[in-house]
Amino acid sequence: MSATVTTEALKNARIAVLGYGSQGRSHVLNLRDSGLDVVVGLRPGGPTSLKAEADGVTVLSPEEAVKGADLVAVLTPDMVQPKLYSEVIAPNMKAGAALLFAHGFNIHFKTIEPRKDIDVILVAPKGPGHLVRTEFEIGRGVPCLYAVYQDTSGKAKDLAKAYAAGLGGARALLIETDFKEETETDLFGEQAVLCGGASELVMKGFETLVEAGYRPEIAYYEVLHELKLIVDLLYQGGITKMLAYVSETAQYGDYVSGPRIIDAATKERMKAVLTEIQDGTFARNWTAEYKAGLPNYTRWKKADMEHPIEKVGAELRKKMVWLNEPA
Ligand code: NAD
Ligand code: MG
Ligand code: MG
Ligand code: MG
Ligand code: MG
Repeated sequence: MSATVTTEALKNARIAVLGYGSQGRSHVLNLRDSGLDVVVGLRPGGPTSLKAEADGVTVLSPEEAVKGADLVAVLTPDMVQPKLYSEVIAPNMKAGAALLFAHGFNIHFKTIEPRKDIDVILVAPKGPGHLVRTEFEIGRGVPCLYAVYQDTSGKAKDLAKAYAAGLGGARALLIETDFKEETETDLFGEQAVLCGGASELVMKGFETLVEAGYRPEIAYYEVLHELKLIVDLLYQGGITKMLAYVSETAQYGDYVSGPRIIDAATKERMKAVLTEIQDGTFARNWTAEYKAGLPNYTRWKKADMEHPIEKVGAELRKKMVWLNEPA
């Protein structure tokens, strides 16, 4: 049972976290508050090193942090990890130490080929970084996947579980996986459903209402704001709880119209997206896009941010002052 997993395996270990963004900051603060010895490796004077110092965290140069560490957690953006690995991590890491990722991308797609004398492990919280911290602060945790890619110490699995426990994940649930499963399902989830699918569903629904002459404010509440209330029900009790809390009329509409919107052809396209993840096409395209300086990414992001739902949304959210208060 995950309830018995503790931080014991990391009791005498120095942990170095590289990166202080969405995941990095939450990991550092949770590990510290779990009583572990953690430092953060950041470029001195960089924007995030000031933030880390303000949090009272020990900041070292990335090289120094890696040299002294028994476990190095790589929490920079995926696309900067290969260069960070070859320039900073590989030349400085102690033999027998553990290299930890929060997403298996670079190991699975072989854009990082790790040294053979280290452990390579994964702890992937199934939630955004800020929630990893806020859940911990209220005594709960975000469920975590963990995996072992390379075990030279014979303790790799214990280290991964102890790290997940330090994050608070063991208060929720720890699930063992492997790098392939974590990487491919994580990419599919964010592309087809969580980010890509959900945002397109919202925008197309908004456009449909506004083009039919309904006011943008009304459309905004209908297709975006209220989605949170539905997702909360799904999160707490699945489809069953969601159906239990909406009206009979909403349920009937769900049954007759839902499958017309998301149909067998949509599922075929989901399979195509999954195939491109599995065969490496997505990873190749994303790496090429990053190396080219993000030309398409920048254009697509700008278009999303200029979508009419973002204009009306910004106005409405200004009036809902409670939205940005801490959870
Ligand atoms: P992020 O973009 O929020 O933060 C990255 C941090 O890395 C920055 O704050 C900075 O401190 C550092 N950094 C940025 N550019 C750098 C560079 N060129 N060189 C060195 N350091 C640099 O990243 P994130 O979203 O926390 O993602 C970190 C890892 O966690 C990724 O592997 C990601 O796939 C994984 N992950 C993220 C989430 C999430 O909620 N964001 C969830 C699960 C897993
Ligand atoms: Mg994810
Ligand atoms: Mg992801
Ligand atoms: Mg989109
Ligand atoms: Mg349905």
